[in-house]
Amino acid sequence: STPVAYVAGLAATAQKGIIIKGGVHLEALSRVKIVASDKTGTLTHGEFSVLNVEMIGNWKKPKQVYKYLAIMEKESSHPMAAALVGKAKEEGVELTEKDEAMEHEILKGEGVMGVVDGVKMYVGNERLMCRLDFLKSLPPNLHRKTKNWSTSGGTIGFLAASNKGIICAFNVSDKIRQESSLSIKKLKEMNVDVFMLTGDSEGAAKAVGRKVGLSEDRIMAGLLPVDKLNLIKQFKRNLSGAEYDVENGVEEPSDKTDGLVFMSSKNVLMIGDGVNDAPALACSDVGVAMAEGGAAIAMETADVAIMDSDISKLVYSIQMGRSVVRVIK
Ligand code: ADP
Ligand code: MG
Repeated sequence: STPVAYVAGLAATAQKGIIIKGGVHLEALSRVKIVASDKTGTLTHGEFSVLNVEMIGNWKKPKQVYKYLAIMEKESSHPMAAALVGKAKEEGVELTEKDEAMEHEILKGEGVMGVVDGVKMYVGNERLMCRLDFLKSLPPNLHRKTKNWSTSGGTIGFLAASNKGIICAFNVSDKIRQESSLSIKKLKEMNVDVFMLTGDSEGAAKAVGRKVGLSEDRIMAGLLPVDKLNLIKQFKRNLSGAEYDVENGVEEPSDKTDGLVFMSSKNVLMIGDGVNDAPALACSDVGVAMAEGGAAIAMETADVAIMDSDISKLVYSIQMGRSVVRVIK
């Protein structure tokens, strides 16, 4: 049966809006040595504002471009999408029911795709534009401009049409959560090594990293969901020097270990809010979801959910795990 100290720990954390799905996860929290944190929506609010929009020369009708952006993004759940739809509205765009992208598709870690007025269009990051070979259609002055936006911490995106190349470039930015810096400082004081794992570009990632106290060697940018997953696997291997069974964190018997099964040391915590974090959350020893504003799948997959998405409660949860385990030992 569950020791009383665990029950007390679960009750105390629940009272603060931290849902820990069982004593075993509280125990795992006590052992955490690495925290891998998503950026957008986790260290930041995930509420973007549009700072700049630049259209390519011959697009004389900016409102039409905003309309394309809105049509492409209205189905997307990415926090950036809401900002672009809002911006289009500000620019006087009103969508009707028939303003819809056909064959709309989410391109993981890259953006979205759809057919508008019979033309295939894309909204997404530089990686996507590069893959589709559209970057060459970007005039040098605009290329310079996007580089500057990026170094000052913006997240850059593009709208492109398959028959015209890039139509516009935009720069969106997100606010860092007030609690992020202090929480990372405290984690470091608790001997926890903190990493940032993000799908965003290096420029935006480093700008946020600087502000929250993460050195450049702790920042992993431009990651696809599978890259986040693989990094978690790598962290787990590096800590234990062994291969893990992704499903349950128990070392698989192999020739090398002569069939011996060791329990996992439960050291790697992943915290995130997005659909793109779910595989990494599932693979980590402790998965923590930011519930407010986060994707349902993140909360479903995680072992711990922070209901109001206050990241200082991650620190509190690890402290609680440690003190409960201390009582029992
Ligand atoms: P993150 O939430 O860490 O940015 P994602 O994997 O969700 O990670 O997205 C990675 C990148 O792909 C984003 O930073 C953005 O540049 C681009 N992207 C994703 N979804 C969209 C979208 N709906 N519109 C434009 N760009 C997008
Ligand atoms: Mg996120």
